[in-house]
Amino acid sequence: MALETYKQKRHFDTTPEPRPHLGKAHRRPIFVVQEHHASRLHYDFRLEADGVLKSWAVPKQPSLNPALKRLAVQVEDHPLEYANFSGEIPAGQYGAGLVHIWDKGTYENMLARKPHPQSIAEGIHAGHLEVQLHGRKLKGNFALIRMTGRAHKASWLLIKMQDAEARPNPVAAESTTTAATPQPVRPRLAVPHARAASQPPATLAFTHQDKVMFPEVGITKGEILRFYERIAPRLLPHLRDRPMTVERFPEGLTGTEAPHFWQKNIPAYYPAWIPRATLPTEDGQLVTYALVNDTATLLYLVNQNTLTFHPWLSRIQHLDQPDFVIFDLDPGAATFADAVVVAKQLHAILEDEKVASYLKTSGKTGLHIVVPWRRAEGYDAARDWAMDMALRVVAALPDGATVERHKDRRQQKVYVDVLQNARGHHAVPPYVLRAVPQATVSTPLTWTELTSTLEPRRYNLRTIFRRLARQKTDPAASLLAF
Ligand code: MN
Repeated sequence: MALETYKQKRHFDTTPEPRPHLGKAHRRPIFVVQEHHASRLHYDFRLEADGVLKSWAVPKQPSLNPALKRLAVQVEDHPLEYANFSGEIPAGQYGAGLVHIWDKGTYENMLARKPHPQSIAEGIHAGHLEVQLHGRKLKGNFALIRMTGRAHKASWLLIKMQDAEARPNPVAAESTTTAATPQPVRPRLAVPHARAASQPPATLAFTHQDKVMFPEVGITKGEILRFYERIAPRLLPHLRDRPMTVERFPEGLTGTEAPHFWQKNIPAYYPAWIPRATLPTEDGQLVTYALVNDTATLLYLVNQNTLTFHPWLSRIQHLDQPDFVIFDLDPGAATFADAVVVAKQLHAILEDEKVASYLKTSGKTGLHIVVPWRRAEGYDAARDWAMDMALRVVAALPDGATVERHKDRRQQKVYVDVLQNARGHHAVPPYVLRAVPQATVSTPLTWTELTSTLEPRRYNLRTIFRRLARQKTDPAASLLAF
């Protein structure tokens, strides 16, 4: 029973891994850490309990430094025999790649000695374990603490506790680790901000600056680099500490067939000074996102032919809580003037609710209305609230607005999209360039600028700075004022 998932994932006529038998308990329970060169190198941390190995995948090498909190994603129980397994899981099989034993030894369950003793199973259920490891590399007390977030029950932190075995000053190689983690539940731990392993270089080398990226308007990569450098003071506050997906166009907007890809996971060759955060996806895969916290990172990614940055709606300090809600008005088969009418209606409803909002062009065909989300509740509550507001717009403008998800059922109505208000989704921030032939920029507007003659293409890479120079206040600043 306990090994059902383990069994289902594997073909035992192909993989050399042990078959799913319950094992006989050792006199002293054992732990093992296996270095696993799967599609992504990780360390499998396993503790013997109840005849199986309770298991966590740890993307970074476990450490004796209490300051280095390691993300540990709980995975399926493994058979006890797995503690002796090293070898190659063949290509095409689950977890394909080399496995070797990185550390092994016995352990003690520290919570079994407490006034209210807890077994390992009880500790896992409660989201808190403390074990004393007697390995060759890992020694002394370690805590495993489950992080908050309903959707991410599998995410834990593996932390070296302070004791005689702790090595607070890691060797140089270890100090290159970044720690970026959502907030754990208990005990309350100070979670460090994500930081880069080293300082960015004083100067960056940019390549192919003459390459034409927007052929219709003749904009080169050099011009895009200068745009992003100049817009950085406005843009960076909207990007800081948010896991980032970037939209890269290696050949620019060369026709409809332009090579184009969305990148979440950063490539291994990116320099160590790029700040990053490793997070589990819904299915337990780990993704290392860049955090665009400084101009050097911004420009490094632009030099990689990034045209648009798409940050999360939450920051790494509280990944389950968005700090804004976005209403994406997509005209579809309707006109831009129709979207203006819908935006005005939504604005009136928000004013009625005494909720501050700001407006911006999406940079493509629509409008974005953004509301700071200051409540303690997370994404589900934010999206539900946004849907309530959207439904009020639809009630007021039944022929003009819709929340219908299916494009072909929207008729000539403007789609009020609130579904991007979800963990792991991203939004277009103010002041980014969009990958459209006119090189438009998603531009914050005042509500008085929202008229039926509004022409979003007027706001583009070549006009934006003139506008900003005239502006006394930034309409998007309210989003940052908390
Ligand atoms: Mn593994």
